[in-house]
Amino acid sequence: MINSLRGFRDILPPESDLFARIEAAAREVFGLYGYQELRIPTLEKKELFVKSTGDTTDIVEKEMYAFTDGGGREIANRPEGTPGVVRAYIENNLGQTGRNGKYFYIGNMFRAERPQAGRYREFEQIGAEHIGNPSPFADAETITMLVRLLEKVGAGGCTVVLNSLGCGECRKAYREVLLAFLRARAEKLCEPCRGRIERNPLRALDCKIDGPALAETAPKLTLCPACAEHFAKTQELLKISSVSCEVNPSLVRGLDYYTRTVFEVRSSALGSQDAVCGGGRYDDLVKSMGGPAAPAIGWALGVDRMAMLLKDKPAADNGPKAFVIAASKEAGNKSFELITALRAAGLSADFSNFELSLKSQMRSADKSGAAFALLIGEDELKAGAVALKPLKEKGDQFTVPAAEAPAKLKELLKL
Ligand code: AMP
Repeated sequence: MINSLRGFRDILPPESDLFARIEAAAREVFGLYGYQELRIPTLEKKELFVKSTGDTTDIVEKEMYAFTDGGGREIANRPEGTPGVVRAYIENNLGQTGRNGKYFYIGNMFRAERPQAGRYREFEQIGAEHIGNPSPFADAETITMLVRLLEKVGAGGCTVVLNSLGCGECRKAYREVLLAFLRARAEKLCEPCRGRIERNPLRALDCKIDGPALAETAPKLTLCPACAEHFAKTQELLKISSVSCEVNPSLVRGLDYYTRTVFEVRSSALGSQDAVCGGGRYDDLVKSMGGPAAPAIGWALGVDRMAMLLKDKPAADNGPKAFVIAASKEAGNKSFELITALRAAGLSADFSNFELSLKSQMRSADKSGAAFALLIGEDELKAGAVALKPLKEKGDQFTVPAAEAPAKLKELLKL
């Protein structure tokens, strides 16, 4: 017996149905907002993440599944989606050839974090990126879209936390103030933070160990007039689209490329891993990766955690409409013909094994959650008929001509 790797898991039904439901809702919402799907590779050159996500970030410094392949190339399993989208945008010249710079992706990410409830080493993200629009209308649109998606899938009890990290100019002055504050406390910081405060002091505020306490007491960033205006406008627009947010100056987010608006969606129902979604503006990333000047904003939603929020809301309908049973040995072919006709008529239908006993097939029918069992035995075979037996509601078995069975079933199920 070979078990799965620690932190890697099988997603079984009915949880897998929840994943599909979340993905379907996302596709629908993305359609409403003019987003198109990008399917990007799982493996990229390691330097893509080092350069974009940042070499002082946890996900690159400590958690990346990186390796050297047979050809001596440094490769990494993607820990997040944005770098790949930005690479694809630049490499395929999407700024020129694309429709509107709005892209979404759905895919698995890999991070060698310590596994716990809601934290896995392979997990799914649904992400949205809007590239080429610097306006606060884009910020408000993307956050509104996210909230509408949460509402659509029925994930209640979520809070949107919002902050602005300002631009390079605002941060230059802040860096010095923060650095002085951190240096004064250096001996109390965790080992990795001590090593990186000189390279990237903001990172300490996002550290899983020191971050929460530091973020409370550290000096706060003062936005330049342009960034302050952008932030105020974003909040004004969010009010217009009826999105309520909590502004929290301690929210810094863990990645290097963020500028101006950053946000997170949290749910108290999730326990310690309470972030469902994170995102923000990254106005300089595309250019710094060798592309055109293309300010952008995006977010990534954790599907595993979304599914946890929906656990008590199983799919309304999780059995087939019909379960076909061959009640005699000779009825196998006719039963197979019937199930083919049912599916052709758009009715979900299943069967177990027409070569097993009636009792065994009935047991499978009960287990399937089907609304009706459709039986063909010796009598039905002779008469060219099918017997319909309700499984979920009380009612007697009755017979209809075989050719009429799909239509009759639709009528009974009000389809
Ligand atoms: P991040 O890029 O770290 O902000 O992640 C965005 C979202 O992905 C988070 O809010 C989580 O919902 C989800 N996520 C991140 N890391 C993990 C993980 N290790 N396991 C499960 N979900 C994760």
